[in-house]
Amino acid sequence: MVDKKNDNNCIFCKIVTGEVPCQQVYSDTTVLAFEDINPSAKIHVVVIPKTHYTSFSTLRPTDDYVVGHLFSVAGKIANLLDVVTSGYRIVVNQGSDAGQEIDHFHYHILGGQKLHNL
Ligand code: 5GP
Ligand code: ZN
Repeated sequence: MVDKKNDNNCIFCKIVTGEVPCQQVYSDTTVLAFEDINPSAKIHVVVIPKTHYTSFSTLRPTDDYVVGHLFSVAGKIANLLDVVTSGYRIVVNQGSDAGQEIDHFHYHILGGQKLHNL
């Protein structure tokens, strides 16, 4: 799996190692969640695997455990953020038309306010 190596030029890998600081929301052995540095909503958290995967479209069936776990903790993180009742949105930006800036697979949790429809 070529994607798995942590990438020295990747800002999210640097957040995982602690080289770049973050406001951590959740962490376990495979997943890290932290507040977005440039929030698009009152609550805006980025959720990443601790290993480097370039993007959604390069994931393979052998990565199912990581992807499944990454998304299965969303409810737990939403609970920590206290948005379970009010609601929240999960977003994956894939590629340039979607505005993907960071080539380390991740999703966003947005909430804390009414979100505009897409
Ligand atoms: P993308 O556009 O790739 O889906 O989302 C990347 C997100 O990462 C953006 O919302 C951006 O604000 C956030 N981001 C980029 N660099 C940093 C950083 O160094 N720290 C934090 N906390 N968030 C970052
Ligand atoms: Zn990375």
